[in-house]
Amino acid sequence: MSAKRTMRAAMFHGPKNVVLEDTEIPLINDDEILVKVKAATTCGTDRKLYLRPGKKYPSYFKPPTIFGHEIAGEIYEIGKNVSGYEVGQPVFVHDSGPCLKCFYCKIGRHSLCENITWNWGTWTEYLRVPKEIIQCGNMVPFDTKKLSFAEAALTEPLSCVLMGVERSNIGLGDTVVINGAGPIGLFWTNLVRNKGAKIIQVDIKQDRLDLAKKLGADIVLNAKDEQDIIQAVKDHTDEGRGADIAVEAIGYPETWETTIKMARKGGLVNLFGGPPPTSSISINTSLLHYNELTIIGVFHTTPRYVQAAINLLANRKINTDIFITEHLKLDELDKILDNLVNQKGIKTAIIP
Ligand SMILES: [Zn+2]
Ligand SMILES: [Zn+2]
Repeated sequence: MSAKRTMRAAMFHGPKNVVLEDTEIPLINDDEILVKVKAATTCGTDRKLYLRPGKKYPSYFKPPTIFGHEIAGEIYEIGKNVSGYEVGQPVFVHDSGPCLKCFYCKIGRHSLCENITWNWGTWTEYLRVPKEIIQCGNMVPFDTKKLSFAEAALTEPLSCVLMGVERSNIGLGDTVVINGAGPIGLFWTNLVRNKGAKIIQVDIKQDRLDLAKKLGADIVLNAKDEQDIIQAVKDHTDEGRGADIAVEAIGYPETWETTIKMARKGGLVNLFGGPPPTSSISINTSLLHYNELTIIGVFHTTPRYVQAAINLLANRKINTDIFITEHLKLDELDKILDNLVNQKGIKTAIIP
C-alpha cells in the first residue's frame, strides 16, 4: 500500500461547523476491513449533533471527526485474519458492534453492551470496519439486484425501529398512536402497518403527515390544529378509551408526557425517541398504578434486528422511495446540510 492516500470527508468541528476536507484514508489492521462508501444517508441523530449547542457529545463522538453514521458500500481491502468476504462485495455496515462477552451480551441485550464499539464517520469515501462489527454480524452482505446502496444504508435506523416495534407486542386489530412523523416515526408507520394494526399518527408538519397517510396511517392529526391532542387521539379509539399502544418517536420530554396519557388502561407506552440525557418527566401515580400502564424505553438495536431489517428491505416490505427523498454528491455539502437542518425531505442519500 502506498504511504500517502487521501480522501474527501465532511469533517465535524463543532455545532454548525461541518466542512469538506482532505484526510488520510484509514489504514486497517489484520482483523479489519476497509469499505469504499457507495451511499451514506442523513439521520435525525446527525441533525441533533449538528445543532446541539455546547460541547456535550456522546463519549464516542470526539470532534474533529468525520460526520454521519449510516452507510452501505463495497469491500475494498480485507485484513489477513478475516475470512468469508471478497473484495468488491456489497455490504451494509452498522454503526456499532457489541462485544459478545459482557453480562448484557450474554443475556441477549446487546444494545446495553458495556463495551460497545461505535464506528461513525460515513460522509466520506472510505470507512474502516473494526473487528467487533464484523464478528457480531453487523456488517451484512446484500444483493445489489434487490437493493440499491442508498436503500441498504437504511438498515441502521430501520433496525432500531424494528426492535422498538417487536418490544411493543402489537397485535392484529390493535390501535397504535405514533407521535412523530419524521424518518423514525415513518419507519414505525411502515412496520406497524405490516403488523395489521390501526394507526393514528400525530405531528405538527402537514407534509410529513401526508407521507404517513401514504404509508398506511389510518388517521393523521396535526397537533397544531387540535385544542387537546390527547382527547383528539382518544376520540379516534374504540369507546374513546385510548390507544392499545402509544409510541413517542420524537424525543421531547413534553411529548413523552402527552404520549403516556394517550394509552388506554392496561395499555403499553413505548417512549422510543431519545430526549437530551439530563431531562426528566413527571408521571401521575394513579395513571401508572390504577391504570396498570406498562411503560418501556427502547434504545438502539441488536445484531438480530440488523439482519431482520436488511431482510425486510430486500424483500421490499419497506417503501424506500418515501424515505430517500434526494440523492446528492458529497461535494454538495451545503445542500445536504440545508436539507438536514431545515428538514427538507426525509433522508438525503450522499453519494461520494
Ligand atoms: Zn441513524
Ligand atoms: Zn457486551
